[in-house]
Amino acid sequence: MKAAILKAPEQIEIEETVTPKPGQDEILIRVRAVGICGSEIHAYDGLHPRRQPPVVLGHEFAGDIVAVGPQVKAYQLEDRVTVMPQNACGKCDPCRHGWTNMCDFKKLLGSTSWPGAFAEFVVASQDTAYRLEPSLNYIHGALVEPLAVGVHAVRQGKVKLGDRVAVLGAGPIGILSMLCAREAGATELIAADLYDFNLAAARRFGADCIVNSTTEALVSKVTAQYGQNAVDVAIIAAGAPALLDQAFEIVRKKGSIVLVAIFNHPVNIDIEKSRLKEQDIIASSTYLHQDYLSALGLLLSKSKKIESIVTHRVPFERIDDTIRMVKHRTEDVIKAIIEY
Ligand SMILES: [Zn+2]
Ligand SMILES: [Zn+2]
Repeated sequence: MKAAILKAPEQIEIEETVTPKPGQDEILIRVRAVGICGSEIHAYDGLHPRRQPPVVLGHEFAGDIVAVGPQVKAYQLEDRVTVMPQNACGKCDPCRHGWTNMCDFKKLLGSTSWPGAFAEFVVASQDTAYRLEPSLNYIHGALVEPLAVGVHAVRQGKVKLGDRVAVLGAGPIGILSMLCAREAGATELIAADLYDFNLAAARRFGADCIVNSTTEALVSKVTAQYGQNAVDVAIIAAGAPALLDQAFEIVRKKGSIVLVAIFNHPVNIDIEKSRLKEQDIIASSTYLHQDYLSALGLLLSKSKKIESIVTHRVPFERIDDTIRMVKHRTEDVIKAIIEY
């Protein structure tokens, strides 16, 4: 099969490699669509601790089952599936608490121990697979993973009916988190980003107030529009430390701040501002089984809207160019999908 191998930082080569064979309880999937995620850019630069070259990246994907192991009962050939790209051990302390997203021994798709979907075929344990309903296409399937990140973040933040929610960072995760916040009952949504292109998408996803942080001061704009301490929940969906300080200011007393972005470096923040307001600072890391089910459910009713975050659909051969384009943002992009 063909696989796009990250040989060294910033060096991807498409090569002919051995097609993997499914083990006892595994399925072999012919990849049809795979998304490029922010964490892939991180890995592409050689900065992801668990995705070091040489490695085949790609963890947001969907495809067709083309072979099954002898112990696979739940799936058949030609089933269309997506996969949760983390396989928990089920036995460690976090797993026994039900926190499989934080399994001490989890295998990550797109790492050396589980080669990813920037390839023609992927093997996966049947326990990680989710069947796609007939109305969902492969692109929808590839969007389940980032959508589940948003579902989990909104659950972690306990967003409820009538809440005013600020999403700081309107990339794919921020935009999908907005959609989930609205579904959870948020009645007002604020979105901030550096790019008008992303903010226009945030508008389409229901933002009532948008802030371009390169030209507008977030705190004063939000305060002018809604008053002081007016936000119930802020979701930090971009790894910029300044957003934390801004969230401490706009979020109300006893309000919540959800951290979903990846922060690459230790941050310097004025935590006292938050302490005085008794705010909850809540972390959110990937997703659980129930988040995947909710994401699949949301896709059934909102597939057109969710698919609209896809700005680029490109063939497998252009994977390297496309990763570079996303990394350097040489074009306006929200989500790029590779199709096979
Ligand atoms: Zn992802
Ligand atoms: Zn575990």
